[in-house]
Amino acid sequence: MTASNLPVDPFDLVIFGGTGDLAMRKLLPALLHRFHAGQVPPSSRIIGVAREPLGDEGYRNHLREVLGQHGDSTVLEAFLQQVSYRPLDARKDEGWDEFAALIKQQAGHVRVFYLSTSPQLFVDICTRLGAHALNLGEARVVLEKPIGRDLASARGINDAVGRFFSESQTYRIDHYLGKETVQNLLVLRFGNALFEPLWNSAHIEHVQITVAETVGVGHRAGYYDHAGAMRDMLQNHILQLLCMVAMEPPASLAPDAVRDEKLKVLNALKPIDESNASELTVRGQYRAGVAEGASVPGYPDELGNTRSQTETFVALKAEIGNWRWAGVPFYLRTGKRLPERVSEIAVTFKPVPHSIFASNAGKLLQNRLVLRLQPDEGVKLWLTIKDPGPGGLRLRHVPLDMSFAEEFGVQQPDAYERLLLDVVRGNPTLFMRRDEVEAAWRWADPILEAWDASGEPPRPYFAGSWGPSAAVALIERDGRTWHEDHA
Ligand code: NAP
Repeated sequence: MTASNLPVDPFDLVIFGGTGDLAMRKLLPALLHRFHAGQVPPSSRIIGVAREPLGDEGYRNHLREVLGQHGDSTVLEAFLQQVSYRPLDARKDEGWDEFAALIKQQAGHVRVFYLSTSPQLFVDICTRLGAHALNLGEARVVLEKPIGRDLASARGINDAVGRFFSESQTYRIDHYLGKETVQNLLVLRFGNALFEPLWNSAHIEHVQITVAETVGVGHRAGYYDHAGAMRDMLQNHILQLLCMVAMEPPASLAPDAVRDEKLKVLNALKPIDESNASELTVRGQYRAGVAEGASVPGYPDELGNTRSQTETFVALKAEIGNWRWAGVPFYLRTGKRLPERVSEIAVTFKPVPHSIFASNAGKLLQNRLVLRLQPDEGVKLWLTIKDPGPGGLRLRHVPLDMSFAEEFGVQQPDAYERLLLDVVRGNPTLFMRRDEVEAAWRWADPILEAWDASGEPPRPYFAGSWGPSAAVALIERDGRTWHEDHA
């Protein structure tokens, strides 16, 4: 079975921050792969923008080094012919007239402005795009996270961008939504008669969402210390995953049909604030330990500030106050310097009401649907079967592997590949609408405020462990354990 590619209209894609880490590690490799798949039409242009005074050839040389590992050199050279570079400072007018003239050369192209820069530059860039009428017609703007650091600042960014780009032109990216497994979650839930009747508090006991990283903060310490795990991961990626698990069936996959349902989930999240944050949340900060087989320093040493109270780990118990999910805990956790790099959603079904099996037949474990987003995307449904062979009847818990991509040899595109082309095609289904981002902050802000008000520092945990012991206690108090069979 081969994957088929949908045709794409010619486009111009401008990457502001075109020399940055995200552009080099994710965006340009994604575009190269789509070029290889024939989805970057010949007249399309990819234009990197940053302040560094590079010419087209200087930028291409840089890309030759970075992209050399991503495919054969003939393809890379053909791709680079469609790539150019413009040195521009988002904060200065100089050079913008020439840039606008360049863009306007291709009047019929879809124009995508990808803001892969610090959010502090979003307003400057949008203002200058507006001043040169580059926001008109088939123009779209892509905003990278973080969209603010609380509700007020998110509103500020959304208002400022909104002065030049309408909501339908604005694509707030959350690359977790572009992952194959997240698409598969939609298809499993709404393409099968099997799951949906069970997808509620009558049959699901609890849900866990884990986004674990082995890396520390590294060179992003400056950014991270102003954000922390709650703002960097939980408020956006993890809540988006929670929405995909918990939303009601949308009437269609039309962008607003899906986003309306996600918004309802965010609005139904039960508040966590000063009254219950100490009971329902745990925050931690890593100390020196062993990660990825080597001794690593703790966060304060990496940052060079022993007084930082920024959390590098969060675990919390959320609940959705609606008929479908009443009483079903959603345990969410994320952290840096954990023992494994894994992003997973584990949906645990209730136990069978009565066991007919002898006590020596083995433990009757609960069914669990595990959707793994990284490192290898895949879906497993854990079932109980009879241990095959002669002898007494013994129970065995086995995973039914539902990751067909590997079996059929279909290469899974990176999330950014899918999402970049969705922007070009004008399909915002997998992007966050303004009200979603703001609803997520509305829920997260009181937690952050409660932590601030408590004055308690984050709990220390050893690098290479699964976070503070209080995170284990959080779930064990309910008679459960964190899902840790990531095989
Ligand atoms: P980065 O490596 O620091 O790159 C920033 C880019 O912006 C550089 O190309 C820089 O080039 C350019 N820039 C800075 N000031 C500028 C100005 N005044 N005018 C024009 N260009 C300017 O940052 P990054 O890691 O790529 O992240 C970019 C955005 O994506 C951030 O909002 C980040 O939070 C978000 N993000 C990043 C990642 C990631 O994995 N890196 C993941 C998710 C989200 P010059 O200095 O030469 O101008």
